[in-house]
Parts: sequence; structure tokens; C-alpha cells
Amino acid sequence: MSKTQSTIARPTDEHLAELYTVQRLGCPDIGKLYQRDAKTVHYWLKRAGIATRPRGSDPAQWFARGGDPRSFSGTKHSAASRTLIAIGSKGRKPYLRDGMHWLHTVPADQNPNWKGGATPERQEFYRTPEWKATAKAVWRREDACCQRCKLDWRTVDRASTPTFHIHHVISFAVREQRAVVSNLVLLCRPCHYWVHSNENERRAFLAEREA
Ligand SMILES: [Zn+2]
Ligand SMILES: [Zn+2]
Repeated sequence: MSKTQSTIARPTDEHLAELYTVQRLGCPDIGKLYQRDAKTVHYWLKRAGIATRPRGSDPAQWFARGGDPRSFSGTKHSAASRTLIAIGSKGRKPYLRDGMHWLHTVPADQNPNWKGGATPERQEFYRTPEWKATAKAVWRREDACCQRCKLDWRTVDRASTPTFHIHHVISFAVREQRAVVSNLVLLCRPCHYWVHSNENERRAFLAEREA
């Protein structure tokens, strides 16, 4: 039993970006998946050129046992407090704002949990000849390069690099802009996820419907 080194291969930079930026896992969480410590994961992120969040910015970590000193984890409320909490929370619906889920009014593809929106309506639209001609025009205009990171689709290893996406600047929900070439941008998958994530604070590549 001399083998103490981890035998799990480290994730690709792309998968790392997906775990850290899209799924928003912290370094300790990713470390657990790959049997490495958080420091190693942080080093991988730096090397991959992935912008790291400041330490302690991950709310999940605040609740980890022995983590943030503000954490209540491991302690118990007294019977008296439990009664008070039960009374106080009676009839309260968590996660609801004015009786509605807080994301209810957010356009689907601006929802941070947006998964690509493969609704039947979308699928049908993406099969139309109109869309196919539009997509071709976008690929040609962008010269097959991601408009955020400039990755050239022709130079990537297609077996390990996922497909590129055509992103709608004004949401897909706005019908009349769906197949307008000037409303579309070619992005690689990680950049597309970034655009729709909370990391995109300046809302790059996003626009509201014109008034
Ligand atoms: Zn990109
Ligand atoms: Zn998009």
C-alpha cells in the first residue's frame, strides 16, 4: 500500500470552467471530486486563465461544517427557540416574492439556471430553412470564431471541445428578432454559458427589446 497519489485524472480546462463558472462549485468542492486539495484546484484555475472569485464568496462554503465562523452548523437551537421559530415561520412560503417565485418574471434565457431552452417551439424553429440560412450567415460573418474569446472553431479538437452556439442578443423570446443576423453572435459553449451567468455583470452580448 505505497500508492498514496490520486489516480483520478485532472479535469480538462473546459470542464474546469464549466464546474467553476457555470455550476459555480468552489475550489474545495472541485477538489473533492478529483481528490485534490483546494489549493491545487486554485492553481489549475489560474493556469487555465479562469477568473477566480474572491475567497469566501461562495455561500455554500459558509454553511460547511467548521467553515465560516458565522456558520450555525453543528449547534442546536434550544426547545424554546424552536417553538419561536415555528411560530414565526408559520404560513411563510420560502423563495416566494409576492407569492411568486423570484425567477418567475425573468425571461427564460436570462435565468441563471437556463439550460438551453430545448422547448418544442425552439426545436421546431431551429429546424426551419430560415434559421439554417441565418445560422450559415452568422458563421460566415464571424469567420467561425467565438466572439468573446476568439477561439477558432477550425483549430479546436472537435472530440473534446463542445460545439459553438449562436446566441441571441435580444432574447429568443422576441419573435421578430429570432432570425435577424445582426441580433446574433457566435460563441463557444463556455463563453455562451458565461454570457448567461451572473459573472456577466456588465451584461455583455445582452440587450433588452427596443422600446
Ligand atoms: Zn469563447
Ligand atoms: Zn444565449
